[in-house]
Amino acid sequence: MEMTMDARVQRTADRTVDVLVVGGGAAGVAATVAAARNGADTLLVERAGFLGGISATLPWLGFHDQRYQQVVKGLPLEFVRRLQAVGGAGPITLDPKCGSLVAVHPHLWKIVSLQLVREAGAHVMFHTLVTEALRDGDRITGVVVETKSGRERIHARTVIDCSGDGDVAAMAGAGWEKGRTADGLVQAPTLVFRLGGVDDAAFKRACQDPTSGYREWFAPYPDLFAQMAAKLDEVDTYVLGGFAKLIERAREAGDADFPQTRIVGVKVSTPNSPQEISVVMTRVLGLDPTDVDLMTEAYTRVYDQIPRLVSFFRKWVPGCEHAYLVEIAPMLGVRESRRIVGDYVLPAEDLVTGARHPDDVAMGGYHIDIHRPSGSWVESYNVQAYGIPLRSLVAAGVDGLMMAGKCLSATHEAVASTRVIPICMAQGQAAGTAAALAARDGVSVREVDAEALRAVLVEQGAEIGTTLTPPDPEEIDGWPLLPQEAEQTTGERDTATTGEAAWVR
Ligand SMILES: Cc1cc2nc3c(=O)[nH]c(=O)nc-3n(C[C@H](O)[C@H](O)[C@H](O)COP(=O)(O)OP(=O)(O)OC[C@H]3O[C@@H](n4cnc5c(N)ncnc54)[C@H](O)[C@@H]3O)c2cc1C
Repeated sequence: MEMTMDARVQRTADRTVDVLVVGGGAAGVAATVAAARNGADTLLVERAGFLGGISATLPWLGFHDQRYQQVVKGLPLEFVRRLQAVGGAGPITLDPKCGSLVAVHPHLWKIVSLQLVREAGAHVMFHTLVTEALRDGDRITGVVVETKSGRERIHARTVIDCSGDGDVAAMAGAGWEKGRTADGLVQAPTLVFRLGGVDDAAFKRACQDPTSGYREWFAPYPDLFAQMAAKLDEVDTYVLGGFAKLIERAREAGDADFPQTRIVGVKVSTPNSPQEISVVMTRVLGLDPTDVDLMTEAYTRVYDQIPRLVSFFRKWVPGCEHAYLVEIAPMLGVRESRRIVGDYVLPAEDLVTGARHPDDVAMGGYHIDIHRPSGSWVESYNVQAYGIPLRSLVAAGVDGLMMAGKCLSATHEAVASTRVIPICMAQGQAAGTAAALAARDGVSVREVDAEALRAVLVEQGAEIGTTLTPPDPEEIDGWPLLPQEAEQTTGERDTATTGEAAWVR
């Protein structure tokens, strides 16, 4: 007879906190700092051994909207300033498609994020996996966690699900959705890696060649392309995207056995990591990120793609002849997983029309950027500065549960904009602050007065639409503005690449 010999014991007596944050990615770090700074007894539990999640891998995009208005301020901006002070971030640079971007040193962000959490007075548990949710009627009262030391119950007035997968919501029986409406497919995931040893001048010259296909959104606007090309001379960090013909040529020569048809990534530079490319080109299709067997298979495939991509860069991409692999991200980049259904499901129309809501507690302005779930390249739609309401951060049908980051209550299309790092952090700041006010006033988060919350957020530097100002003409001098009616998307739509590595179920 098979027996389980589980020697682990319940580690300690149950603990109780005001605010429990599950997941220490971009959203979770901001939620934790905000909750603790606003006086709540706050605990962050994270299954990995570092903070930052997937944000500790990437440049941060989208502080500005596509008109160059700064729509994200508050904690995310403070985090960038802290990083800049230790040589862990470059300057914030504008970009006509993505609004803006800043290169962040992955390891310095891991260090600084933990400092910020500890300075705020919050507690952290690493290597701690949430495995169960505790409910009392309609109310979530806490979670069960598993660690090498055993099993523990943590009770909280408010649980903020920043797991990126909506794990707590799923365990608690709250409503969630996954993928696009038609077939449930999520955006293609990517294992990001960085290349060092890039000759920036040679690489820029290739981008500036109007026949290269760099930033193909600009093809119908030669004057704007010329403006963009001139701006490259002034910056060290810039978005890539394009070079379709170059990949085609490499494929014909048998040198591009990977399922991507464009160079996707960002040329990044910080004082401590100069002249690198963050390559965002591995991908698998048909992944359900909550299925461990499929995740394992996906890892096998993306790791297999990396050496092929490194060889491609060295052989075919100007300026990359001596490039070398610096680092592979510590986790597969899952762009989209469960989205928790909240009191308001933010739709794409709100983003495209720049809608504002009376209970807005965060803002975004990043384009709708869908890495095609069953094709290559991206589906992109321009947006206007939009508001994210408190109701999209509060789970429907259950009390005491909030969410921020990738599992925000929004549609497949809307999450493709709200998912970028600064916007996830702005949501985290709002959720953490709301949870702290709930603890202070002894109420459920659903009873928190949205006006009072908005006042605290504004006082603490967040942008919720009340202090939005037109862009500084000096700052945007020479940066091209993509017309709102510009071609929204390019490349083949939903044509799955057939290479062996693509994997379509
Ligand atoms: C490949 C890729 C490229 C991207 N490129 C950019 C870019 O260049 N710039 C940009 O701004 N944005 C980019 N994004 C988007 C952005 O990085 C993410 O959407 C954002 O960082 C998500 O933050 P998050 O906190 O919601 O989730 P995550 O970063 O996924 O954090 C979730 C955390 O929860 C933990 N966790 C999960 N389940 C549990 C559990 N049960 N118990 C305990 N802990 C748990 C995880 O370990 C993780 O640390 C990219 C995304 C991907 C996937």
